Amino acid sequence: MLRKTSKETIAPYLRDASSYSGGNADEVLIPENAEELITALKIESRPVTLSGAGTGLTASRIPSMGIIISLEKFKEIEPVKKGEIWVGPAVTLSELQDHLKNTAWFYPPNPTETNASIGGTLATNASGSRSYKFGVTRDFVNAVDFALVDGRRVLVKRGQKISTPLRLDDGSEISFPSITYSSPNCKNTAGYYVQPDMDWLDLLIGSDGTLGVFIKICLRLISKPDEFLSGVLFFEKEKYCWDLIPEIRSDSLVFPCSLEYFDRFSLEMLREKYPNIPSKANAALFFEEDVAEAGNYDFTLGKWLTFLDKKNILLDESWFAQNEKDIETFHEFRHQIPSLVNERNSRAKREKIGTDMAVSDPHFLEMMGFYENVLSGQGIPYVIFGHIGDNHLHINLLPDSTQLKQASSLYDQLASKIIAWKGTVSAEHGIGKKKRKYFYDMVGQENINDLEKIKKTFDTQGKLGRGNIFNSF
Ligand SMILES: Cc1cc2nc3c(=O)[nH]c(=O)nc-3n(C[C@H](O)[C@H](O)[C@H](O)COP(=O)(O)OP(=O)(O)OC[C@H]3O[C@@H](n4cnc5c(N)ncnc54)[C@H](O)[C@@H]3O)c2cc1C
Repeated sequence: MLRKTSKETIAPYLRDASSYSGGNADEVLIPENAEELITALKIESRPVTLSGAGTGLTASRIPSMGIIISLEKFKEIEPVKKGEIWVGPAVTLSELQDHLKNTAWFYPPNPTETNASIGGTLATNASGSRSYKFGVTRDFVNAVDFALVDGRRVLVKRGQKISTPLRLDDGSEISFPSITYSSPNCKNTAGYYVQPDMDWLDLLIGSDGTLGVFIKICLRLISKPDEFLSGVLFFEKEKYCWDLIPEIRSDSLVFPCSLEYFDRFSLEMLREKYPNIPSKANAALFFEEDVAEAGNYDFTLGKWLTFLDKKNILLDESWFAQNEKDIETFHEFRHQIPSLVNERNSRAKREKIGTDMAVSDPHFLEMMGFYENVLSGQGIPYVIFGHIGDNHLHINLLPDSTQLKQASSLYDQLASKIIAWKGTVSAEHGIGKKKRKYFYDMVGQENINDLEKIKKTFDTQGKLGRGNIFNSF
């Protein structure tokens, strides 16, 4: 097993995409295989934090003490069998996508950051543009080889319900505690996923690196669609784009898998790289619909053109993909906005101040109006972009050094409204260390007590992923 013990070699593991500072670790352990990992866990007495690819946005892989265990050597990819594939947790999304490129199989979850590791995406229950139709990471995991922080190991398969204790390889059992908490009714990855009669697997996915280690992962694949019909629609006014969303949702002609929003300030930022964005455009919507059989492409295109006709869209200036390369370009266009924001934050040496909140459908238009009212006139630069189909937008605040306090209270104001609407303070990035305060406000102390009971059944000493989700572990 490799060990990194010097300050310089540990430093890269104390970073992620949140620009969080203040991490600290005694050393980094890099096991070569599952046996080395299990041995290390069994003898380790210090707090342990697990590390994936470090693209997370909540500092959840960054410890303040103890050791880091990096799974970076767990890179194996097995051949696809019956629509399933076993992969090591360090395999990145882009490696998986490359591996599947010349096959008939498709893995739908696509957080725009394809350098993320599959282990990290399970820990955060990552989602992305195509989750609007296909669902989130949790929906595509069939089994995991899993280790508790004390080194006990278990193969957890889909269908194993929490009503039956989980039997570990040493014969011991874990019973799901008696609690009343259940997760909110919108896209959500804040705290543990809890629903009556769920599978154990559902609990482990989205547990923010606090319940155990994914050693190997069995993903469910679907048949690859022959084509994706895709475009970027431009609007003169942001409101025109917002109003189109409920229409798309209720329409019986079009069935997008992606609906991604760009506000006027996102477009302003993107114009640096894309001068061909129409000058009149103040909002954009990236959409995709999967087309199972190539022969249906023209029919699907015809439905979209009928639907889009006579809407408030700059249709002549909008972009429609002509080939696979154009689709990649549109995905890159979407990915550029968080990347540019992260670059600006790094240059300004500013911690990322980005929201990840979502509400249920009935609050969508109210939420958009509220964001506009609260944010405009504050004098703090910002962008709004993201998964508008799921009522899940990322607001990124870009304050100068004199506006940091104001930005923080602005975030508080936004979060408290979302909480009042019974939405979530994290729909895809997790709570980690950066959003605990909002999570506590969202669920309240009684529910935190329930969630702590779950944590303690897996990690009696509170050793794993300290500082993630909970104040007390
Ligand atoms: C530009 C940009 C765009 C992004 N867009 C999206 C998006 O659209 N959707 C989205 O969901 N996210 C997005 N993200 C966030 C990020 O990519 C995800 O949170 C990702 O899932 C993190 O994976 P990682 O491997 O980098 O994990 P890390 O950051 O290394 O760790 C994240 C968590 O996973 C835990 N972990 C890692 N490996 C394991 C393991 N083997 N077992 C158990 N726990 C483990 C860690 O302890 C930590 O708690 C974006 C990030 C960036 C920088």
